[in-house]
Amino acid sequence: MVSAQEPIKILLVPGHDDKDWWMKEKITNGDFIIKKGTPHNTASKDVSIILHGINKWANENEMDAVVHVHFNDYHRPNKWIIGDRKGFAVYMPEEQMVNSTTSANFAKNIFKKLKTKYTTSNYEGEKGGLVASQSLIALGSNDTLLPTVRSVLIEYGYIYRFGNKTSRQKAYDTFTNLTVTGIKDYFLSRPLIGLK
Ligand SMILES: [Zn+2]
Repeated sequence: MVSAQEPIKILLVPGHDDKDWWMKEKITNGDFIIKKGTPHNTASKDVSIILHGINKWANENEMDAVVHVHFNDYHRPNKWIIGDRKGFAVYMPEEQMVNSTTSANFAKNIFKKLKTKYTTSNYEGEKGGLVASQSLIALGSNDTLLPTVRSVLIEYGYIYRFGNKTSRQKAYDTFTNLTVTGIKDYFLSRPLIGLK
């Protein structure tokens, strides 16, 4: 079990907060470096620098985990018409990355909880809902996160699917509770010793 003296440190990072989000012809905010076929946007230079900075900070401050929290969207001809894509996806580091071993079970625990309530993404690039990625800075691409820093990026769903404020708020609460339960399940079911 987890030692009671040392609290688990989790860094929560919200994404997709570009204020010009809807105005840009080419959406540049995002967490990803260029990779063909991802549903995500290409990270602008500024965003890349911020994400690398977050990774550096997480390493130096001995975070146990970094959780990136996103709501998705994608580029389509008319942004005011509801898109076809739906469902959630959990991204985790690809197996060659130094923090993949510690991250995989962490991600799976969160995924398992979300799946009890929500359907996984119908987007081809997110098939199955649990996606390993090598290119996301947020997950520690180029081994920018230490092996001890678990990373996960959660796309809770497509933003246009949350009709009004009430249903949105309700969804936020459910997402949050499921995510927290998944995180607790992970940390409470395994000893931290040896992973540090
Ligand atoms: Zn995203």
